[in-house]
Amino acid sequence: MPSSDRSAQIGALYQEMILDHYRRPRNKGELERADESVLMKNPLCGDEIGVQVRFDGDVVSDLSFSGRGCSISQASASMMTQLVKGKKLEEVEALRSKFRDMVMGDAQAADDSALGSARALSGVCKFPARVKCALLAWNALETALAKRTE
Ligand code: ZN
Repeated sequence: MPSSDRSAQIGALYQEMILDHYRRPRNKGELERADESVLMKNPLCGDEIGVQVRFDGDVVSDLSFSGRGCSISQASASMMTQLVKGKKLEEVEALRSKFRDMVMGDAQAADDSALGSARALSGVCKFPARVKCALLAWNALETALAKRTE
């Protein structure tokens, strides 16, 4: 199969995954007994994401998000919660950095299976205006973790 066909297929699959998370968000709603809660806005697009996190030692034991906005911002938040739930803080930080590299256009990060379904957002790097949408939930998470270690 020519590589352009293959990348078109992957593009269609990724688009489907984004829409799926947008329509059926995972871990959306209020989190009981949250230790940290951060609300962030992206005025450029009108996106809002709130992230609530519960810790167990140095593990993100549970988290949820709330918010509204474009499909990229909401799908990214949904994928982020799936990816970091149950992970240690240092793993979360590594994933956040990898995700950031990916949406900035790093092909190696886009190939890394550690990013799971969040790789569906790798195409965002071609649309600089949407990079902020994709990073909003991760930035909120980073702020929540920073508050935690203060
Ligand atoms: Zn947006």
